[in-house]
Amino acid sequence: MPDESKGGAHGGHPGGHPGYAEIKAARARGEHSGAAEAAEFRRNKTNQLRVLFWELTDGCNLKCIHCRATAQAQRSPDELTTDEAFRLVDQIAEFASPILILTGGEPLYRPDVFEIAEYANKQGLRVALATNGTLVDDASADRIAATGIKRVSISIDGANAKTHDSFRGLPGSFDAALAGFDRLKKRGLSLQFNTSVAKHNLGELEDILKLALDHGADALHLFMLVPVGCGLEIADRQMVPADEYERVLSWLYDASRKAPIEFKATCAPHYFRVMRQRAKAEGVTITPQTHGLAAMTKGCLAGTGVLFVSHTGRVQPCGYLPIEAGNVKRRPLKEIWASSPVFLDLRDVGKLKGKCGVCEYRNVCEGCRARAYGVTGDYLDEEPFCLYQPGIHHEGQAAKA
Ligand code: SF4
Ligand code: SF4
Repeated sequence: MPDESKGGAHGGHPGGHPGYAEIKAARARGEHSGAAEAAEFRRNKTNQLRVLFWELTDGCNLKCIHCRATAQAQRSPDELTTDEAFRLVDQIAEFASPILILTGGEPLYRPDVFEIAEYANKQGLRVALATNGTLVDDASADRIAATGIKRVSISIDGANAKTHDSFRGLPGSFDAALAGFDRLKKRGLSLQFNTSVAKHNLGELEDILKLALDHGADALHLFMLVPVGCGLEIADRQMVPADEYERVLSWLYDASRKAPIEFKATCAPHYFRVMRQRAKAEGVTITPQTHGLAAMTKGCLAGTGVLFVSHTGRVQPCGYLPIEAGNVKRRPLKEIWASSPVFLDLRDVGKLKGKCGVCEYRNVCEGCRARAYGVTGDYLDEEPFCLYQPGIHHEGQAAKA
């Protein structure tokens, strides 16, 4: 899942992009689960909602310098009440069965987080939790394990305390996050590291992978910074420039094929271009068997398979793209999902502008709409952190898979 765990830092996709069940099923089907089925899943022509990030609260105990939610020590009085939260679960279950990622702020700041998780679980939603991990003591670890939460992601932004704590704004947060992680591990939870990649930790990615393996993580998701929220203030000094970004994605391609855990970039849409370029050069066909989860999804899913609901009920395409599509207090989520203009825009790659609009990879990438918005003010503009210069300016030749 993109890391919304600051929760709020990047939404913490514990499920990441959708597809755990699907990829397992594909693998189980062996020879018959190939590129064609992966492509069909990825196209999601009917725009089924597959992942919903729900910012339960903007309250948080940390002060992350890159926080999407610009979280506060105090919870907002405008948060959805417990009853409103239950009604939102009902609204979701009425039309979809997405992975529901409870994020923040810090979702464990809400005393009713377990009630909400249990209720969502009973309504048939697959619930995941994106937390900064520092509040996971033995009691809350027991509750998390008992609620039926399917996966927990914990934000780890450095290979050591110095790097992580400086980014997270609280001395001791690295040790506390790992202690929380280990408590959950002991209880048999599926666990994920979420790592925000910025200049400060570019040199530590190998070591972060090693740390994830040492602690028994099931997944490591790398999230490239988006200039939104607090991330906007640090963008000049922390954003990874396009050429470095390209190198990280290429390194990830190699590392992910060797790593014994799910290791992927999230909200790095042009990874799906890099993956195709590298696979083509190697003469390899992309299938779930060869490329894992990345074969089953595509770049930016905002508005096509993913949405975000804020602590006040405001609906956005994702936590980093602050365009209001509606509010669940005033309009059913099903209607917002079906007809909000911003969602309709994002479902039409023909509306993309600049080089993304003519790129042969646009169907599998689309560029990060939030980065485009953050830099130009237009969410349909070209992705500003992609080096690629499209080579085939012909509508019919855009990659379909
Ligand atoms: S716009 Fe797309 S790629 Fe960018 S942060 Fe949102 S979901 Fe991720
Ligand atoms: S130009 Fe846009 S669509 Fe093409 S690879 Fe780069 S970000 Fe993706």
